[in-house]
Amino acid sequence: MSPEQLIRPEILRLAAYHVADARGMVKLDAMENPYRLPSEMAAELSTLLADAPINRYPDPRAEALRAVLRRAFAVPDGLELLLGNGSDELIQILALALARPGAVLLSVEPSFVMYRLIAEFAGMRYVGVPLTPDFALDEGALLAAIAAHRPAVIFLAYPNNPTGNAFDAAAMERILRAASGLVVVDEAYHAFAGGLSFLDALPHHDNLLVMRTLSKLGLAGLRLGYLVGRPEWIAQFDKLRLPYNVNVLTQRAAVYALERLHVLEDQAGRIVAERGRLAAALSALPGVRVYDSRANFLLMRLPAASEVFEGLKRRGVLVKNLHGAHPLLADCLRVTVGTPEENARFIAALKSELEQHA
Ligand SMILES: *Cc1c(COP(=O)(O)O)cnc(C)c1O
Repeated sequence: MSPEQLIRPEILRLAAYHVADARGMVKLDAMENPYRLPSEMAAELSTLLADAPINRYPDPRAEALRAVLRRAFAVPDGLELLLGNGSDELIQILALALARPGAVLLSVEPSFVMYRLIAEFAGMRYVGVPLTPDFALDEGALLAAIAAHRPAVIFLAYPNNPTGNAFDAAAMERILRAASGLVVVDEAYHAFAGGLSFLDALPHHDNLLVMRTLSKLGLAGLRLGYLVGRPEWIAQFDKLRLPYNVNVLTQRAAVYALERLHVLEDQAGRIVAERGRLAAALSALPGVRVYDSRANFLLMRLPAASEVFEGLKRRGVLVKNLHGAHPLLADCLRVTVGTPEENARFIAALKSELEQHA
């Protein structure tokens, strides 16, 4: 007996999601918040977690956490929340629920790769509509794709990963109105986007869902994402959620952190300020083009990006090489904004590499 006889052919064809080994490196590849909780908070949290009843199953509805999320992020009344083990799990729940035979999941390209990956393993047909060369929505192409494929769901990351820009909100509204199915606005980078959000648009569109995560805000290790939408949609998706998907420790730790959201928001503010300084320093380097970012990372284009990426790695700095990921990303690297020290190490390493490849 071999896997080829039993495993679905589309799974056999799939390449597993690759996570680079970052041991001992300055880790600027995964949009994590570089700051830890202040030590007094970490100590207080450890006492709370030590006391958590891990012999019991978690609250399946995570009522305390939901209440804190509603308050912390001002979720409009009348809307419901679905919590996920990271927002990746929420994308999976949506795809499983919508995977009628032939159903299409549509997104733009380049964007978050999990949309395509999850569509494939949930058995949906994936359609990717290219962005324009400056990473804006190609409205004509999107409207044509909506008419041709009648997607059950459209995912739009706002701001977009890996490009960092936020799409034109009026264009997004037009897509929402033209859509044949649901539109999920993925606000993973909300904390760095200067208030841009579709949360307040939710009551005006019956096909809109807004998805967020605590990962980029400083809690990536907890794995917590949330989807906000009309109760009639959330009730259906909730049937696919495994009963205890958000564990006891995550529920407790997230409540604790969200009750002190200002601490995480201060860190996000420092990251945004540092993003500006990093962008200016990178733009001053010969041959480097830095794209505007509303997120906690910067996309840049530079000569011989793949060689530079390998050189940076040898110098102990891990970024993300996007060359080869999509034609629009030729010679592009994505760097997460780190602490001032990490960014200084990255800039110094990049300077040396650029001189070597000049
Ligand atoms: C990082 C990211 C996510 C995934 O977040 P998790 O909650 O950690 O699963 C979702 N969407 C986009 C656009 C992201 O960049």
